[in-house]
Amino acid sequence: MADTIAKETITEVGAMKRSHYAMIINGERVEGSAGQVFDTYNPAKGEKLATVAKANEEDAEKAVQAARNAFDYGKWRKYPVGKRARVLNNIAAIMRARFKELVEIEVLNSGKSVGAAQVQINQSIEDFEFYAGAIVGHRGDVNNMPYGFFNYTHKEPVGVCAQIIPWNYPMMMAAWKIAPAIAAGCSVVVKPASLTPITAIILNEICHEAGVPEGVVNTVPGSGEVVGDYLVQHKDVNKVAFTGSTPTGRDIMEKASGTLKRLTLELGGKSPSIVFEDADLEAAVAGSIFGIFFNTGQSCEARSRLFVHEAIYDEFMEQFVARTKKLKLGDPFDKGTHVGSIISRDQLETIHSYVQSAIDDGATVLTGGKEMKIEGFENGHWYEPTIITDVTPDMKAVREEIFGPVVVVEKFTDEKEVVKRANDTEYGLGSAIWTTNQARATRVAHQIQAGIVMVNSPFSAFPGTPFGGYKQSGFGRELSVETLDLYMEDKSVLAYYGNKPLNPFGV
Ligand code: NAP
Ligand code: MG
Repeated sequence: MADTIAKETITEVGAMKRSHYAMIINGERVEGSAGQVFDTYNPAKGEKLATVAKANEEDAEKAVQAARNAFDYGKWRKYPVGKRARVLNNIAAIMRARFKELVEIEVLNSGKSVGAAQVQINQSIEDFEFYAGAIVGHRGDVNNMPYGFFNYTHKEPVGVCAQIIPWNYPMMMAAWKIAPAIAAGCSVVVKPASLTPITAIILNEICHEAGVPEGVVNTVPGSGEVVGDYLVQHKDVNKVAFTGSTPTGRDIMEKASGTLKRLTLELGGKSPSIVFEDADLEAAVAGSIFGIFFNTGQSCEARSRLFVHEAIYDEFMEQFVARTKKLKLGDPFDKGTHVGSIISRDQLETIHSYVQSAIDDGATVLTGGKEMKIEGFENGHWYEPTIITDVTPDMKAVREEIFGPVVVVEKFTDEKEVVKRANDTEYGLGSAIWTTNQARATRVAHQIQAGIVMVNSPFSAFPGTPFGGYKQSGFGRELSVETLDLYMEDKSVLAYYGNKPLNPFGV
């Protein structure tokens, strides 16, 4: 069977819109060894978009061996760092030249609005540019030593990395992972989310067109429970970088322990946003709307728990609800669309079950709370932007990650109390503070148990800013200079150059 499988060496990407996408192993487009394929969809329309080669364990094995071979015997990690940087910049340049097509494919496969996709593809490009620059300046240390001794730390790539990607930011999460890994000199095997495999495959092809040697980046679409699980336990994989749900993260951590892999886990969230009485109301309302409804709420750092000071509660809520009602849902390619579709029917049902649980628990839905039917998109998965109040801290909708366009709002009276309530969550990824009092902003920022604090800002991440969680939101940081160290080992080289031979035993 294996001999009859079509293979094609990738020299250029070619058309991005296709009816079928192959997997990528060792610089070649290949079909699955068992000849299997799966369908991928446009969730905005609930329509089949293309077929994708489906990897199994045998394909995952081939991908790991290709990556291993490229790492152990290939030239990539031995390139002068400036040459690796040049290739990363080439990747960015190709992405920029084909920006519109990349945005189109991302919108088609994820159902997100064109505006959201533009921002995310642009950031993906900037990630490669950022790491092209960062790696050039990334260096080890020379340490103070007793006379005669010399010690330096040599930074070496960690090896073969499995990179497991979620469906909410299909291209951006792939870029967050591939860019620092290959900048550091690692080889990678990418496992895209089954719901959104296309842009990761295309990014891998772009890497080859840009000059990344064969085997350095490989992409194996297939089931997380089969392909993901295989990679996580593989003895020749040195590191796993995962973004996704906390339960899957726990499972990966347990399974990776058998081979003591390095891990970066970027998991779920239930991020608080605190609007103080001295906040700029205009900024706080607009930022709170964006903070939850951007990317249809399918965001790990979505600010899904909103705390509003009692003195401004009524005024804030009036505007918050009225302006949320103005959000436009519909054709994701329409520039006026603010909020796209939900990724799948299953996810929509999960979201609605949380809203229903809040209602059953006695909460009030101020707006939204149900599925939407949109003309021309009747078979797609659409959910109204939803604001819920009259909640208590023990409610399921308040404690658990919903991962949809749903925010719960609570009133508070003082700073100490709200910090405690904001921290009353098992998660610790994002958080936001809205205040014009600089001293308060700093004081509260330092007390919040979360990896990211946004002060008067709706935005959580730019290339260069560390992104990652506390508590059950995982560990490790992506998107920043620190990330490079998570793809590298610090080797300590200790040498003696003294005049007298050392003879510690005195024999
Ligand atoms: P998930 O299970 O965590 O999936 C994320 C990625 O991990 C996918 O590529 C998935 O592959 C893979 N995977 C699944 N099981 C695996 C395993 N046992 N070993 C290795 N890899 C595995 O998330 P999901 O099921 O798509 O979504 C469930 C919930 O997770 C959402 O409702 C949301 O709350 C949360 N979520 C969070 C984020 C985030 O950014 N923090 C992102 C996505 C989802 P398949 O696609 O083939 O299953
Ligand atoms: Mg899952």
